[in-house]
Amino acid sequence: MATVTIERPAARVLRVALPSPTLPPATTTNAWVLGEDDVLVVDPGSPWPEPQAALLEALAGRRVKGVVLTHHHVDHMSGARALAEAAGAPILCHPLTAAALGWADTLPVVEGDRLEIGPDAWVAMHTPGHARGHLCFHDEARGVVVVGDMIAAEGTIILAPPDADLAAFLAGLRRLEGCGATLALPAHGPALPEAAAIFRQNRLHREARTAACRAALGAEPQSADELVPAVYGPIPAEIVPLAAIQLCAHLEWLAQAGEAVERGGRWTRAQA
Ligand SMILES: [Zn+2]
Repeated sequence: MATVTIERPAARVLRVALPSPTLPPATTTNAWVLGEDDVLVVDPGSPWPEPQAALLEALAGRRVKGVVLTHHHVDHMSGARALAEAAGAPILCHPLTAAALGWADTLPVVEGDRLEIGPDAWVAMHTPGHARGHLCFHDEARGVVVVGDMIAAEGTIILAPPDADLAAFLAGLRRLEGCGATLALPAHGPALPEAAAIFRQNRLHREARTAACRAALGAEPQSADELVPAVYGPIPAEIVPLAAIQLCAHLEWLAQAGEAVERGGRWTRAQA
């Protein structure tokens, strides 16, 4: 099992990276502890007793005021109930996240809400695309932003239809790029300085993929699997299914834009 990593990339920000059921090559999800004596804990994602105990140990001496979820995916929410119960704290998330989880007892957080803790205020940004209820949290005074699965310092962010929406995801990256943040706190991997450049890089990378996808479409119907080599080049056979899922997000976007047509799971270029 991966080990627990604890780092402090900024004052009143603690990264506790816990082993979680996430997508390889990432093996951990960061529980971001915001605050000093009173804290909010974002995305305690480990379902396993040992990492959960390690998190409680890291939190010793602090008062957990809320357990916050960026979105509903299993590697982000799996430790939320256990921590909320241990700390006697509420769970806060977007109503769409609560609906996806079927949780009726969470406190709603929507675009523009301010989560105040100690001297800091973390402003919620609703950034759907990876997941419908996805939230980021921006400390505007310090230029620090919790980005959940909008970017990753380890592994890749999967956009899987039907929950994913590439156009919304790219709009979210554009918003983050322009928000003035200089330090991004991703769910997987260490904190990322030069945040704006990284948001931009990620957006350009996705846009290049869409362009490759557009170029690979022809008059002959092809499945997403068949399109993978043309878009991704030679990749190991075991990651072709993931690449195909990813490709579908690009294909759906092209379909929305009237550039691609799908029939029975096979894709062609739209006739002009
Ligand atoms: Zn996710």
